[in-house]
Amino acid sequence: MKTTNENWSLQNSYIELPSSFYKKIKPIKVKNPKLVYFNEKLSKQLNLEFLNNDVSKITGYLSGNILPNNSNPIAQAYAGHQFGNFTMLGDGRAILLGEQKALDNRFFDIQLKGSGQTPFSRAGDGRATLSSMLREYLMSESMYFLNIPTTRSLAVINTGESVFRETINNGGILSRVSSSHIRVGTFEYAKHFCSQKDFKDFIDYVIKRYYPDISGSDSPCTDLLKTVMRKQIDLVISWIRVGFIHGVMNTDNMIITGETIDYGPCAFMNKYNPKTVFSSIDRHGRYAFGNQHKIAYWNLSVFAGTLLPFIHKDQNKAIDLAQNILDEFSAYFSNNWYSMMFSKIGITNPEKSDEQFINDLLELMELHRADYTNTFLSLTLNKSNKDLLFQSSDFKNWLKKWKERVKNDKNSLIIMKKNNPIYIPRNHLVESALNNAINGNKEEFDKILHQMANTYEYGVNLDRFQTTPDGFDETYKTFCGT
Ligand code: AMP
Ligand code: MG
Repeated sequence: MKTTNENWSLQNSYIELPSSFYKKIKPIKVKNPKLVYFNEKLSKQLNLEFLNNDVSKITGYLSGNILPNNSNPIAQAYAGHQFGNFTMLGDGRAILLGEQKALDNRFFDIQLKGSGQTPFSRAGDGRATLSSMLREYLMSESMYFLNIPTTRSLAVINTGESVFRETINNGGILSRVSSSHIRVGTFEYAKHFCSQKDFKDFIDYVIKRYYPDISGSDSPCTDLLKTVMRKQIDLVISWIRVGFIHGVMNTDNMIITGETIDYGPCAFMNKYNPKTVFSSIDRHGRYAFGNQHKIAYWNLSVFAGTLLPFIHKDQNKAIDLAQNILDEFSAYFSNNWYSMMFSKIGITNPEKSDEQFINDLLELMELHRADYTNTFLSLTLNKSNKDLLFQSSDFKNWLKKWKERVKNDKNSLIIMKKNNPIYIPRNHLVESALNNAINGNKEEFDKILHQMANTYEYGVNLDRFQTTPDGFDETYKTFCGT
């Protein structure tokens, strides 16, 4: 395989870990790669500007056909609870090229997803469909524009090879960029399959690399639990702010640095209903919109369980210490959830009694099946919209009281504009854009990206409410791992 260094500044600190944490493996070459999307701005931030305007280089490197010669590619080992059941997993179709030093001197994992089989592939083909990789590109970049912590997407390549799912599809490779690919499931893997010493080395590595502030602490593992817990709560609250449903919050899809990862079956909610689920396999609504914080708690309990031997020698004491931290979940979530919701309705100096504004509004929105994004957009614009909510007398009363409440608050509007997006990637638009993009027409895809890049730009297209065709969401289904 041809290798060249050019301007890559890759390291791979992960391979300094005990070898049980990864397998060295190279991407499997593809026949006829073609570049479909490239994120120039991100490549600049990553100090990969030399790639810009050189399609053959981008295509070579980001299809895995050419390796930077300072790359030490690996597939990471991990396990996880999927829908509550423990399973051994690992990167079955992804390869970590290494950690690229960005312009701000931070290191970012660059991973090729869909790059061929690895020792963790089980019965899978190691590949991904072009459509699902484009979907990840669109959704992750939309989340970035919504100001939500997320893995990023550097490029999508059409492999020129067929991928068989229920039908024949074009293959795709996504280059995923993330500060980390260490999952709660990586800790579960260490607990079940590694020696105590190797697990300890891994924890030290995680703390040193991601949370150096706690490395000198007397109780680093409880501090780690607390920090990861808060990051996950903050993340879930930011999802709720924009109506995002992750769709598959398995413990392998939760990274300990608190970014959104794994864009398989995710979707945005249109009509407000906490029970909303789009994932085809989530039959009982385990990962429904309104359950996401409960599942985060569940996942964090699993995380805590893996840390017990390192929290205290006496396991009863360790359980007490971990439980004390987990017990803070509820108050931390509730306080920060209300703060976020207050920002959506522009209350910047909340008092306890203001919680009723949120509770009442959500109840009315659910009752009248109001569009989540458009309701808050309407409040921000001080305009009504077509939803029945705006004709309801209860809502009109609410509106009157709310206007009275915020009328002297100078920062109200500023904070609402920052927290209420104008656009979200609407399900019907995403599907149509993807169908066109895989057939070579990227116009709609570009349009969504452009709208999302301007999703907080009040003042432009002020009265552009997005609408969802009647009945679309009722039958809409999303899929994992395609
Ligand atoms: P995901 O649904 O992307 O979280 O994947 C769950 C697990 O299945 C991970 O271990 C993936 O690497 C693996 N996996 C998913 N699709 C494939 C595939 N086509 N080939 C090999 N492994 C896969
Ligand atoms: Mg996953």
